[in-house]
Amino acid sequence: AKNAGRNGYAFFTPAMFEAAKTQALLHQEMHFAVSRNQLELHYQPIKRLTDDRIVQLEALVRWNHPERGLIRPDLFIPLAEKTGMIREIGQWVRQESLAMIGRLQEQGFNVPIAVNVSTAEFYDHGLADKIIAQVQESGVQGGSLLVEITESLLIRNQQETLTFLQKLQQANIQVALDDFGTGFSSLSYLAAFPADKLKIDRSFIHQMTANPRKQSLVDTIINLGHSLNMTVIAEGVETEEEEALLRSKGCDKTQGYLLAKPLPETELMEFLRGYNAG
Ligand code: C2E
Ligand code: CA
Ligand code: CA
Ligand code: CA
Repeated sequence: AKNAGRNGYAFFTPAMFEAAKTQALLHQEMHFAVSRNQLELHYQPIKRLTDDRIVQLEALVRWNHPERGLIRPDLFIPLAEKTGMIREIGQWVRQESLAMIGRLQEQGFNVPIAVNVSTAEFYDHGLADKIIAQVQESGVQGGSLLVEITESLLIRNQQETLTFLQKLQQANIQVALDDFGTGFSSLSYLAAFPADKLKIDRSFIHQMTANPRKQSLVDTIINLGHSLNMTVIAEGVETEEEEALLRSKGCDKTQGYLLAKPLPETELMEFLRGYNAG
């Protein structure tokens, strides 16, 4: 390893010590994050390219820490996955998203919300039944909640994953394969798991316009998805050029900073009102 010393031991630098201390602290504090209402959701719109309508939102969690401010998920989700806290967080994210679907409908916006399900939550064998029960108890209409899973989740246990997908689909909860193309054997997963949507990872979209090889890959992924009757969503679309290219290639939907960053509820409602009016 880069930091390995003469005896094979890693040097523990002050910076590493600080990082470890911060991690340990966050660990402890995370136990209270849910019960103290410190988590919040931001919502990023997804638009359909054929008619430019906002047809979906993705819920993205943030930790509003009393001293540190808003903490991004990549900093605490991996920790939460290690400690098992992710189950409580996942449960909360779904509960909050279902409530939000209701508030959106009150404002006249009939937009489904996609939530991320982590690999670690998946060790909970009753997860599909739990999600279905949450949706039923919330009373929102079928199809309003969607689930995003990553390939790493699929690697763990194929039979369970298949059962998970089938249960959700029977309950009219669509499943998207997130970060598509970043796993190491995407194609075998496509063969084994009948998901409804495929999200092209943003690493393929980034600087795609200047990179013919990326364009070829994106083109191939779109055709692949369509040939399997999947809706294809491009993530991380930041420029007009990228959007135009994706449109010309027949990509179904886009998500990214060009359209909107993930927005807190009030700003999202404003965005939707302005967008529909304009
Ligand atoms: P993800 O599921 O792939 O979510 C998309 C990420 O890309 C979000 O980062 C979003 O803010 C970011 N993004 C969207 N458009 C653009 C763009 O145009 N350019 C760039 N550079 N980035 C863009 P965020 O919100 O920081 O979330 C990071 C990751 O944390 C997510 O990646 C997801 O894996 C995880 N995560 C977020 N919320 C949850 C959650 O509720 N549960 C679980 N298990 N994981 C979550
Ligand atoms: Ca996602
Ligand atoms: Ca993604
Ligand atoms: Ca991701």
